[in-house]
Amino acid sequence: TKPKILISACLLGRPVRYNGKGKPLDHPLVAHWRDEGRLVAICPELAGGFSVPRPPAEIADNSSGDAVLSGSGRVVDNTGADVTAPFLAGAEAALALAREHDIHHALLIDGSPSCGSSTIYDGKFDGTRHHAAGVTAALLRQNGIAVFTERDVDALASALIA
Ligand code: SF4
Repeated sequence: TKPKILISACLLGRPVRYNGKGKPLDHPLVAHWRDEGRLVAICPELAGGFSVPRPPAEIADNSSGDAVLSGSGRVVDNTGADVTAPFLAGAEAALALAREHDIHHALLIDGSPSCGSSTIYDGKFDGTRHHAAGVTAALLRQNGIAVFTERDVDALASALIA
């Protein structure tokens, strides 16, 4: 059987984002993989216990998902509430789902404090990004799963056949 791919549910258009919207990725390869039944969708934030809509959250203090996983970073929402625990729970749920399906590749939307793998917002809620991964992307990578952004579908396709 062909390898499966973990995908951010919002990339399939599911209305799971903090603002109640999806962010569908219109790409022929993604449509093809979907038709082959190879996409396993998850929204880590919903899996971690959040609902829709929810306040936007960022990893605080210009930090990273790896720091959150090691206990030295935290996730806060725009009211200042600490929401680290549900972010960790969502990341664990994503890893468990990936293992269940023997998945080694993930296609996650960039910029998210969960799914971001190239850039995330820096915790000031002013739109500034920096190079770091979100909590779920970091946990997946720590466990050997290759994470690609929505800009890197072609690289993902190459990795799948490598
Ligand atoms: Fe999309 Fe990931 Fe945010 Fe869920 S946690 S809305 S899948 S970016």
